[in-house]
Amino acid sequence: MSDFRRFFVQEIYPQTIVEGEEFFHAVNVLRIKVGEKVLLCDGTGKEYLAEISSIEKRSFTANIIEERLNECEPKEKVTLIAGYLKGDKTELVVQKAVELGVSKIVVFSSKFSSSFINENKLNRLNRVSMEAVKQCGRAIVPKVEYAETLEKALSFGDSCKNKLFACEFAKANEVDFSNLNGSTAIVVGSEGGFSNEEYQLALEKGYKTVYLGRRILRAETAGIALTSIIMHSLGEM
Ligand code: SAH
Repeated sequence: MSDFRRFFVQEIYPQTIVEGEEFFHAVNVLRIKVGEKVLLCDGTGKEYLAEISSIEKRSFTANIIEERLNECEPKEKVTLIAGYLKGDKTELVVQKAVELGVSKIVVFSSKFSSSFINENKLNRLNRVSMEAVKQCGRAIVPKVEYAETLEKALSFGDSCKNKLFACEFAKANEVDFSNLNGSTAIVVGSEGGFSNEEYQLALEKGYKTVYLGRRILRAETAGIALTSIIMHSLGEM
């Protein structure tokens, strides 16, 4: 955990004004004070040490002291493409995946999905991503996006070097984790798993099969476990 509280703003100025949710959290929950040092991030990966100079009713102002290098961002981009889950399980997956270092999360609905997302839920997932970023010290907030079909979800992996598809009914694993490098997309199903047609579609789109062993893992376990394996293979853990 970094030594200073971090706040996200749209843009950095010598005197940066922090407002909205970030301000209310700072004042009501963290009880920040004038003179306190904080880290300001604009979401691009840079962060700035700043000192709070004034606290108003709806905003606080912080004077930039210096730019700092954030060392927590992963070197390779990993995109997690995960089936949308029941209850708040997707929130758990987003939180853990962000801590583990993914750069983007895509949630999708597919043939055997039993839960559907709406705009509020998507906003909530993006807030979970931001909170996880702050907690683990990252400087870029991974965006959570929604794809209404598996086909659209798979296309988020188009530009990735490695495209991996976790299939619970696969016979064997095709991926050599010890030799993995470069950007990577990981696809994991929802509670209902995948149909054979969906698996074939992924293969046609250039995805390689990942088999995680004889035990069928819950969707949230599979997403978190596979993200951990990939991050370890890429030298991030
Ligand atoms: N309902 C399905 C299981 C779905 S598990 C059934 O009963 O067979 C949810 C998702 O986790 C799967 O779609 C897959 O992406 C992943 N998963 C779970 N266990 C796995 C395993 N052993 N190998 C590969 N992927 C697995």
